[in-house]
Amino acid sequence: MARLKWGMVGGGEGSQIGPAHRLGALADGHFDLVAGAFDHRPEEGRAFARKHGVAEDRAYGDWREMLAGEKGRADRVDLVTVATPNSTHFEISKAFLEAGFHVLCEKPMTVAVEEGEEIVRIAARTGRICAVNYCYSAYPMIRQARAMVRAGDIGKVRLVVTNFSHGHHGDATDADNPRVRWRYDPAMAGVSGQFADCGIHALHMASFICDDEVEKLSADFASTIPSRVLEDDAMVNFRMGRGTVGRLWTSSVAIGRQHGFDIQVFGETGGLRWASEQPNQLIYTPVGGRTQIIEKGEAGLYDEAKRLSRVAIAHPEGFPLAVANIYCELADSIRGVKRDGLPLASAGVRSIAAVHAAVASVKAGGAWVEARPPMYR
Ligand code: NAD
Repeated sequence: MARLKWGMVGGGEGSQIGPAHRLGALADGHFDLVAGAFDHRPEEGRAFARKHGVAEDRAYGDWREMLAGEKGRADRVDLVTVATPNSTHFEISKAFLEAGFHVLCEKPMTVAVEEGEEIVRIAARTGRICAVNYCYSAYPMIRQARAMVRAGDIGKVRLVVTNFSHGHHGDATDADNPRVRWRYDPAMAGVSGQFADCGIHALHMASFICDDEVEKLSADFASTIPSRVLEDDAMVNFRMGRGTVGRLWTSSVAIGRQHGFDIQVFGETGGLRWASEQPNQLIYTPVGGRTQIIEKGEAGLYDEAKRLSRVAIAHPEGFPLAVANIYCELADSIRGVKRDGLPLASAGVRSIAAVHAAVASVKAGGAWVEARPPMYR
């Protein structure tokens, strides 16, 4: 099968998420990295591209140059990954989609709800794929959890409780570090800090596993480091379409929690528990029965989980391979095989609508507010 051609905007030297994209995209032989505008500083971006084997004429100084250069080529890239700070996602993704490229955009897909709706419409109009990197949803055991819920293994879901709380921005003396600061600056991050940064992964995960959508929410935000304009801690209560009760805590000042992303789903006949720090295990308890550990790679998993498992049981398959699963599903989709689990722009706009809903709720003293984007009401 011919390999697909891939380019990146952002994700340059020292970036947090760039390496996971490169490991993920290149892991299964679906993509070759052939172009990029990797850095906000043109020369650093070009140097980084060369270091990663990109040809001189496709090592671009900025994304507009990349768009112009790639548009005119017969061997143009098939897919562009956008891994820049949040406020730039919309105009970069829009421009590449309109020029006929498939896009994988980092979360949050946009800053404004209207922008998110526009991306959904552009993708529909152009027939291009716009995926959003909700990579945690591509862990095999998350696919297992979703398949179990769909199959009725835990009955109707009553309650979902999820946390994405870490302590890596908890040091007040590091608050001015540019890589930390932009996340709490409305000019760079939008209307929300921690909820838009990590909370939306948890909210997406709740929807994804329960196969249901968030309809309304009530939120409480706090900036525990006073120099921060945007929140570094949030508690969000929500309700989903089928009445499921949702509870979500997200924080970046929870010192001692390293990568505290976990989720529990409680149904009428059983419960499920998963944590990103032990991603190969799904804990399952049937009502009145013993708690069991379901392991990635074991016999009897649902097909959705089997398809995304590569290495044998008990061998770790971590974060970059979850990102790789997103790239596999993208490669399949670009080649015309639709994949049900791939998070698309519709999930991206639902998240950003929830972010704005949370901000509105906070301003209204924690009132319950509509969480769906206008296009999905
Ligand atoms: P970062 O600050 O560590 O790196 C940003 C990179 O983008 C840098 O290389 C910078 O030079 C480059 N850049 C900035 N503006 C650019 C521009 N206009 N053109 C080209 N390159 C540009 O940020 P990060 O933590 O890697 O976050 C980037 C995005 O990825 C954010 O939207 C963030 O929310 C998202 N993210 C997602 C996950 C995930 O799990 N899916 C994890 C971390 C970050």
